[in-house]
Amino acid sequence: MSEESGVSDWNPVEGLTIAIDGPSGSGKGTVAKMLADELALPVLDTGLLYRLTGSVALQRDVSLDCESDVAALVDDLLTDIDWTVDGVFFAGENVTSQLRNEQVGAAASQVAAMLSVREKLLGLQHLLAEKGCIMDGRDIGTVVLPNAPAKFFLTASVRERARRRWAQLKDDSDSSLEGVLAELKMRDQRDAERQHAPLKQANDAIGIDSTTLRVDEVIDRMLGVLERRKLIARSVS
Ligand code: C5P
Repeated sequence: MSEESGVSDWNPVEGLTIAIDGPSGSGKGTVAKMLADELALPVLDTGLLYRLTGSVALQRDVSLDCESDVAALVDDLLTDIDWTVDGVFFAGENVTSQLRNEQVGAAASQVAAMLSVREKLLGLQHLLAEKGCIMDGRDIGTVVLPNAPAKFFLTASVRERARRRWAQLKDDSDSSLEGVLAELKMRDQRDAERQHAPLKQANDAIGIDSTTLRVDEVIDRMLGVLERRKLIARSVS
């Protein structure tokens, strides 16, 4: 995005979809937002759908071990969810910031292992992807948008990811770095080992290890790939 004009320096092809997957703390949310700014594309964080489900299940005492109860809850919630580039709205309120804590993250990862829950949330994701967007999550390249013309899989060392998460959380919670690391390892394991739509790199995704890269360096690599594939072109001013 050119700072002076607020106009994108790039023109994406019509309806471009870009999938960005990776484990917690890999930087995919930050990268997805910056890339979306560069390309003037909408960006959608699919984790929010699982976080909202997990959070409401906790509030309403729905057992996170009972798939049919959680699936019934999702049916109940769907009409009240508005999922946008500004985050997720529930019953008219933007609840995004309330969902960014470790307890909700852990509940999200539990409900995300349930096939019926995933299937119910898939329709919403397909609907919003139709006009082109950047979507970030765990299974975007493998399940949600398998035909996306550009897929990226972001990783970083588990210590570095924990350090990033901890830096984000420490103003709002008293969690220790070691506690965040332990929670992250557990979530990684649950997400990668689950039966349905596990966290894994799609065969045609480009892997980027961001452990020692700055965000702008990651973005430059992505723009390079998109330009080489003729999915974006520089705007002529
Ligand atoms: O990305 P975020 O940390 O917000 O995701 C929370 C949880 O939601 C993840 O740990 C994962 O279990 C689940 N998730 C998923 N599929 C996605 C996005 C998130 O299973 N596409």
